[in-house]
Formats: sequence, structure tokens, C-alpha cells
Amino acid sequence: MKVVLQNLTKKFPGRGRKNPVEVTAVNDFTFEIPDGELVGLLGPSGCGKSTALNLISGLLKPTGGRIFFGEDDITDLPPESRGVGLVFQNYALYPHLTVKQNILFPLQNLKGKDKLSKAVMLEKATEAAKLVQIDGLMDRRPGELSGGQQQRVAIARALVKMPGVLLLDEPLSNLDARLRLQTREEIRRIQRETGITTIFVTHDQEEAMSISDRIVVMKEGVAQQIGKPQEVYDDPVNLFVGRFLGTPPINVFAGRCRDGRLYLGEDAVLRVPGIADQDVCVGVRPEGFVLQEEGTLRCEFGSVEVMGRDISVVSGHSASLNPTVRSIIAAENRVDRESAVVRFSLKPQKVLLFNKETEERIYGEMLAL
Ligand code: ADP
Ligand code: MG
Repeated sequence: MKVVLQNLTKKFPGRGRKNPVEVTAVNDFTFEIPDGELVGLLGPSGCGKSTALNLISGLLKPTGGRIFFGEDDITDLPPESRGVGLVFQNYALYPHLTVKQNILFPLQNLKGKDKLSKAVMLEKATEAAKLVQIDGLMDRRPGELSGGQQQRVAIARALVKMPGVLLLDEPLSNLDARLRLQTREEIRRIQRETGITTIFVTHDQEEAMSISDRIVVMKEGVAQQIGKPQEVYDDPVNLFVGRFLGTPPINVFAGRCRDGRLYLGEDAVLRVPGIADQDVCVGVRPEGFVLQEEGTLRCEFGSVEVMGRDISVVSGHSASLNPTVRSIIAAENRVDRESAVVRFSLKPQKVLLFNKETEERIYGEMLAL
């Protein structure tokens, strides 16, 4: 099922002294989620992710704009008529019901022509349980399950009606690190197997990047950029998106373009023949540094962190806007730990320029010196 959002907006009115100002939680969302894709809705806490999801599920009514499932305008339909499956962070299972009864619950609520026989309901519940691999736990109660198992039950319950759209709001947040990794791979597998159009909300960029066909990066209710994870990482439209994606985060410097050269502090680091003279913000991905004796970027050496396959050189630079400069280089590189200075050259395709005031991307040719 294709999902189309058209100028979707949600404002929460200010209420009295505690919340005096109106909040625009979702601001003019216009984009299309193709049928069968998994889209990651990504942004910091409070940027409007849950609000956007709840508008799509129907739990919230929009202030403006329309929502389409396929060709149908479903903006005014109640949640139960939209054919969506919902999974939240806190599994929200019925504690007094068994796993089987929890999964059956949405089916038992079907009325009229949609009503199913007991046998069919059980078949569907078993199928959903198998999909998330909990069919061996059907007679337990939620209290007798691990967190990961509880979340699987919640996913089975959301899937049992085979919804056209599956909505997941930070479904992995309550799981420990290992389980989080395993469950996210499971979600990906289930999504592929069922082909259900899925929207996955998270504040964790790594999670969103690894699981999604496409990501939507949000800031303060506004969708900043939509694209394949790698494209958004390589080509962020602004400094916010550049900063939000990637670990370690992008290194940001105060820089300037003068006579076709890019300077970080006193160091000329690249040629930028087409870019007008101006002060800029310069983003350098950690993998954009090359350790080089005659490298043009001169940093104060700090420390070396061993990461196995790679090493991370932590250094300092007077033009750096981050507390430290973090580079990732191959482990076979030798770093002179006695030297006070460490020198790098920069890979042009890993350097991004942004307008100093608006923080919007500045595009242009960048070349090694
Ligand atoms: P996220 O899920 O990205 O953390 P939310 O969608 O929950 O963000 O919230 C977005 C903004 O809307 C926040 O500023 C939040 O305080 C506000 N907000 C959310 N729900 C309500 C509500 N029911 N009433 C008033 N403000 C709300
Ligand atoms: Mg939320």
C-alpha cells in the first residue's frame, strides 16, 4: 500500500501558563512512501516523529493536509478503519491474557461481515506467531516473557490482520543492545517476507540507516531530507542532516573560501575553483582524513583509539567547532605518538561546505591541492 502525505500539519494549541505557545509538531509534510518499502522516520527527541505516526494511524487528527493510502483519501477515517498495525516502545500487551489471546484480540473485535470463525482466527494467530518465532510460547502470559519476546508478541498482534501499513514507534528502545540488533534484523526480515509498507520511527541514526529503504530526517516538525540512507549520508542538504547521520559524527570547522582555495584556519586544504569568496562551515567525515607527513591540515595530536579494523586519531585544531577532531584511518597506519603534530590531507568527496548563516549546503567542485 502506497502512503501519500500532502501538506500534513499538526499544531498543538498553547494551554495556559505551563504551555503558553502553540507547537507545530508536524509542519507541512509532503512525501510519498512507495508500496512495500520500509521508511525510517528519524530525528531527535521532540521533533514530531510520534505525532507524524499518530496522524497516519488516525490516533490524532491533523490541523491541515491530507493522507492517502493507495488512491484513497483516509484523512477522515477512524483508526480501526484504516487497516494499520501499530507497535509502540512499551509493548502494551494485556498482562492477564496469554500470548495467544493477545494476538487473537484484534481479530475477536471484528464485527459484521468481517467476523471470522474461531478456526480461521486461530490459524491467523498461529501464522503471525510463526512469523515472529514465538509460536512455542502461545500459552504464556507477558510477565513470563523476556522484553524481546514481549515485543515480538506486540509485532505479531500488529500483523495478525495483515495490515496494509505497519507503523512502529521506537519499537526497540526498551531492549538491550544485543537484542535490539537481533530484533531489528527480524523486523527487516518480516517486512521483506510480508511486503507490508512500514514506517519505522527512531531517534537512532544507525538503526534507521541500517534497516530502511529510505529515511526521512526531521527537525522541529519539518522534514529536512528524504532519500536512500547512503545518499543522505553522502549528500546532506544542510548541516543539521550532516551532523545527525554518522558515528563518530562529522567534524565541523570554521572555514573560508578565498581565491579558489578552502582554508581551515591558516591551512589551505582543497581547491574550490567555482566557489565565491566567503566564510563557510566545513564538514569533514571521519573517513575523509588521510594520514600524511606533508598533509596540509595540521592538527595537535591527542590520542589514538584502537577500534580493531580501524584506528581513530583524536586531535585538535584551532578552527574546529567540535571539541576534538576525530578521524578514522586503517589500522596499518603508523601514528607517531611522540609528535605534537599530526598532519592530514582530506578526501575531497568527504568534505562538505555549508553556508555559515543558513547552514544550507554549498555545492561546487572540490579538488585536492
Ligand atoms: P518525538 O516523537 O519526535 O519525540 P513528538 O511527536 O512526541 O516528538 O512531539 C513533537 C512536539 O509536539 C513536542 O514539542 C511535544 O512536546 C509536542 N506534543 C506532542 N504531543 C502533544 C500534545 N498532546 N499536546 C501538546 N503538545 C504535544
Ligand atoms: Mg516519540
